[in-house]
Amino acid sequence: MKRREFIKRAGSTTLAVGAGMTGVGVAEAKEKIKWKMVTTWPKNFPGLGTGANRLAESINEMSGGRMHVKVYGAKELVPAFEVFDAVSRGTAELGHGAAYYWKGKIETGQFFSTVPFGMTAQEMNGWLYFGGGLEFWRELYKPFGLIPAPGGNTGMQMGGWFNKEINSVSDLKGLKMRIPGLGGEVLKRAGGTPVNLPGGELFTSLQSGTIDATEWVNPYNDLAFGLFKAAKYYYYPGFHEPGTTLEAIINQQAFEALPRDLQAIVLNACKIANQAMLSEYTARNPAALKTLVEKHKVDIRTYPDDVLETLRKFSNEVVEELANKDAFAKKVYTSYMDFLKGSREWGAISDYSYLQARDKA
Ligand code: CA
Repeated sequence: MKRREFIKRAGSTTLAVGAGMTGVGVAEAKEKIKWKMVTTWPKNFPGLGTGANRLAESINEMSGGRMHVKVYGAKELVPAFEVFDAVSRGTAELGHGAAYYWKGKIETGQFFSTVPFGMTAQEMNGWLYFGGGLEFWRELYKPFGLIPAPGGNTGMQMGGWFNKEINSVSDLKGLKMRIPGLGGEVLKRAGGTPVNLPGGELFTSLQSGTIDATEWVNPYNDLAFGLFKAAKYYYYPGFHEPGTTLEAIINQQAFEALPRDLQAIVLNACKIANQAMLSEYTARNPAALKTLVEKHKVDIRTYPDDVLETLRKFSNEVVEELANKDAFAKKVYTSYMDFLKGSREWGAISDYSYLQARDKA
């Protein structure tokens, strides 16, 4: 019985292959779906660029070659900060960047990248996937013909690179610093001037003195840009970006034109890319930090407690102001803060208490 079934199946497989050779296979090959992915990162840049590459590779592999996504680095097809518009108008079907880069267009989107003194990477993923965050994000991008998805996370970032010590909040006064999103608004409140520059322009801007200070990501990425050659002090913690979610944006029309299984593949590839990036940073940061300290003699400093306290106060003001812009921002803020409150209570007796116990000298 079993043997007969096997022969039957083998037969139908042969038949399918035969049919393919006489036409079906050729037709399928012609229908291969080709997508472009534009990114805000330099091509193949460690962590961010490779994260975008991984998203494309996952789609290509899981689709069994029915889809092919080609990745473009910043400026190859469109400039770094035009990714959102390019995918919205359909110049590319897919984009990889971060929601806070488009704050001039959609301010509320910043909640979906990172909030100063807000959620960590793990908490962001909890809120986005299971706490209602992603539904809000989709609603926000719908008028632009875009479907957003978490497409990576940097984990905890560093405070940034400075050429002078930060001993009090007044040391931030007059400082021209590259710092995006809500963190930039916090710096403004401290008397500094935030500027937003694509990653690829940071090193030259800092070295030439166009900016006085910069933050970028964390040791793995900052080492790759050689920022230690242009600044003396490397401050922590990155209060302004405690676990930044990168975004994958999908052109809605292109997405809806896909068969159901390929739609599922695209969305699941985003989930894979989201987790894989965080894992990569978790794995690479320790060695990069060691290289920065031991080989390049970088002076690692922590912000004084009172500086952090003032920055936290400014952060709360900035985030509340954003929440009061309109009714939708208020809904997102309320959802975010409710989730964070619960997470803090649970976190106090789980991760926080455990790490303190584990790492006691
Ligand atoms: Ca950053």
